[in-house]
Amino acid sequence: MDLEHKSIERIRLASEMSLHHYGKPLVCTYSGGKDSDVMLELFKRSGAPFEVVNSHTTVDAPPTVYHIRKKFSELENQGIKAAVHKPGLSMWELIVKKKIPPTGIARYCCEYLKENTVKNRFVATGVRWAESSKRKKRQEIEPGRKDLAIKIMALNDNDRKRALTERCKMKSDMILNPILDWPDKDIWEYYWNECTLHNPLYKMGYYRVGCVGCPMAGKSRWKEFADFPTYKRAYIRAFGKMLEAIHGTRGITRWKTGYDVFSWWMKDSNVPGQISFGDYSPFFEENGEVQNTDRRDYRE
Ligand code: SF4
Repeated sequence: MDLEHKSIERIRLASEMSLHHYGKPLVCTYSGGKDSDVMLELFKRSGAPFEVVNSHTTVDAPPTVYHIRKKFSELENQGIKAAVHKPGLSMWELIVKKKIPPTGIARYCCEYLKENTVKNRFVATGVRWAESSKRKKRQEIEPGRKDLAIKIMALNDNDRKRALTERCKMKSDMILNPILDWPDKDIWEYYWNECTLHNPLYKMGYYRVGCVGCPMAGKSRWKEFADFPTYKRAYIRAFGKMLEAIHGTRGITRWKTGYDVFSWWMKDSNVPGQISFGDYSPFFEENGEVQNTDRRDYRE
């Protein structure tokens, strides 16, 4: 079976499980990137009922926001329900509240802005094995909670299917990854040949689209901030307010301005274990996580 048909079969199976156990259609999550667009096209071709949800991160590049708006208006014209989930706090407010910049090992923003925005539903994501070695452990259908996913992986195939159905009956979150095994080459081919609308960022030299300044984006952050300088100013402002919040409760840090924090943040290597916060800031690393010396604030 080719990749397209294999993915469509997965969508149809998960759709039946969703309707049977949740009484609601499968949810197709949508970020405005190529993987999302490919997945959405496959959903349409499956003939299964579905809804589309976008988690508004407040730091998406403007071309991505316009692309999502255009796509959602196309979906509405086709009679497909599409909604944007808006978070209670923006990225800038979150930085001040957490009193720590988002980093490769302190990704509180993902948890708050992107994950768990759809509760107690069967949700499809555009996760692919080709994206990182960490994602190699992901399965086509899995429970939303990581501890349950690991338990289910250890079972043999029949047991696994039964366990998945059991989880479904309990109506905890379930995840479908319909394009899990798609290599990059096939994604690009399908995206340019089969999807009707394209995110303009791909024609501006971007290979991946996502939050502007994402600490996981490595060197491409420099290009992002050069293309969207308003975001750079917004981060510097948020880091300045974050310092005010820290000074208010903790005394002095070596950082004096939002720009000092921004400069340090842009040099972050993103590799766990390589960040040395010790004598440079109020943050330190413990058990593979970044902690603020004011622990109450970080763990709120
Ligand atoms: S900036 Fe990166 S880590 Fe934060 S929400 Fe966006 S994708 Fe996730």
